[in-house]
Amino acid sequence: MLKGIGASQGWGIGKAVIIKDAGLDYSKVVFTNAQDQKKRLGDAVSAYKAETQSLAESLKSSAGEKEAEILQGHIVMLSDPFMISQMEENIEGGFVAEKAVDTVCSMFIDVFSSADDELTRQRASDVKDIRDSLLKKLLGRESTDISSVPPNTVLIAEDFTPSMTGKIKKENVAAIITETGGVTSHSAILARAMGIPAVLSVSGATKAVLPGQTVIADGFKGKIIVNPSPEELNDFAKKQRDFLAEKESLKRYFARKTITRAGVQKYVYGNIGKPEDVQNVLQNGGEGIGLFRTEFLFMDRVSLPSEEEQFEAYSTVAKAMNGKEVIIRTLDVGGDKDIPYLNIEKEENPFLGHRAIRYCLDNPEMFKKQLKAIMRAAVYGNIKIMLPLVTCIDEVRAAKEIISQCEAELSEKGTAYKSCELGVMIETPAAALISDLLAREASFFSIGTNDLTGYIMAADRGNAKVEGLYDTFREPVLRAIEMTIKNAKAAGITVGMCGEAAADLRLVPKLVEWGLDEFSVSPGSILQTRKAICEL
Ligand code: PEP
Ligand code: MG
Repeated sequence: MLKGIGASQGWGIGKAVIIKDAGLDYSKVVFTNAQDQKKRLGDAVSAYKAETQSLAESLKSSAGEKEAEILQGHIVMLSDPFMISQMEENIEGGFVAEKAVDTVCSMFIDVFSSADDELTRQRASDVKDIRDSLLKKLLGRESTDISSVPPNTVLIAEDFTPSMTGKIKKENVAAIITETGGVTSHSAILARAMGIPAVLSVSGATKAVLPGQTVIADGFKGKIIVNPSPEELNDFAKKQRDFLAEKESLKRYFARKTITRAGVQKYVYGNIGKPEDVQNVLQNGGEGIGLFRTEFLFMDRVSLPSEEEQFEAYSTVAKAMNGKEVIIRTLDVGGDKDIPYLNIEKEENPFLGHRAIRYCLDNPEMFKKQLKAIMRAAVYGNIKIMLPLVTCIDEVRAAKEIISQCEAELSEKGTAYKSCELGVMIETPAAALISDLLAREASFFSIGTNDLTGYIMAADRGNAKVEGLYDTFREPVLRAIEMTIKNAKAAGITVGMCGEAAADLRLVPKLVEWGLDEFSVSPGSILQTRKAICEL
């Protein structure tokens, strides 16, 4: 048995598929002769083009013309005789095919990255894609396609980046196991959103389990059993039955209002990352969407989503929620949420860097597209806008200024839109400390305990070694939460919580006592949270 952290409740059983980071180190490849190396290069280029062409064809029907065009653009780039001849020249000079590809692509990446216009800069990430794909081909390191694993798969990886998690098809994945990450890492959040059991921080899991072995994952206690005995299989079946029975019994809270025994009404909302997640919230009795993490619309693609695409996503959610509140958080990029085509510079401390609202305010054209899409979608429902990672009042005022510009531009064009209430996430110590002042600028607060806990305790949410310190139940974090709620109440604005702690049963009584209005949790935790509140 291997031990880790139970990060998404439930039991899963299935066959192991190990996702290994392929690695693109070619330092050990030996130069044979130029002719050989040119043939290797030619073969890799042809294979890449053929695969990309067929991927583009299938994307055309599944994702649309635009996505397909981007891939076809890769083929055009690689058909440029200059690019290939540069690579061949490098080979003539004694480089192995890998180094020739790397050198020439890196040169193009440097040139494109330093361009003034965004469109050219975006081409740098196209070339990065081409370079990595060609290197993988040359090195024979094709990585497993997460989106096409068979049913009853237990996925095991060192870590799942948000974009890897985005490819998971929940009907095929019985459980997720990683070697790193904690309860509030994004892999964990997404696993819970999809209702997939997850055990994280299982050290050595990718080596200890062999591909194809049967694995049981216990997402409650954080245990995994490899090659279970008949007794263990029986035990697993019984636990799963009990779990499903408990889930069934929670259904009586489905259509109930969230009212405490003392008669105080609260609201339990769901957190989502994609429009499809709305169904999960509704099926679990969510009274609204307390956090739409829009960064997932920006991931797993090679260029920014257009205003139209975003409008489509936001209005779909607004319509599906049928008048219930939908809080859309503006792009929270940076930190562990990397979006390669944005070409954000590598930073020493990305969690303290140019991210979230800071990045958006410095890229107003991109920010405006998102804000306009949200306000246009607001015509179809009850949408509110929320700003991530706020640390000072100026950021809120600057965002308001940009929102006013968007409204003026939409009005001028005669485009239908609705002004939205603007809320602030309290997820930095700075925001909590000035929550009295921020409450004068915001229509509502939502406390983001995932980041707030990390920043207050100076402990990384994804580092299992400091898991003990990273705890929302610690006194400094509790004080910040209580203070924020009190300041919101004093100013007469509503206050919710969209961090994972909103579903922490140890915390719920305190949150109710302090006056938290809305609890926004993973869809799978909605009914349990409502039950806990109703029993108080
Ligand atoms: C938070 O920090 O609590 C939060 C909800 O935001 P995210 O987890 O997306 O950083
Ligand atoms: Mg956060």
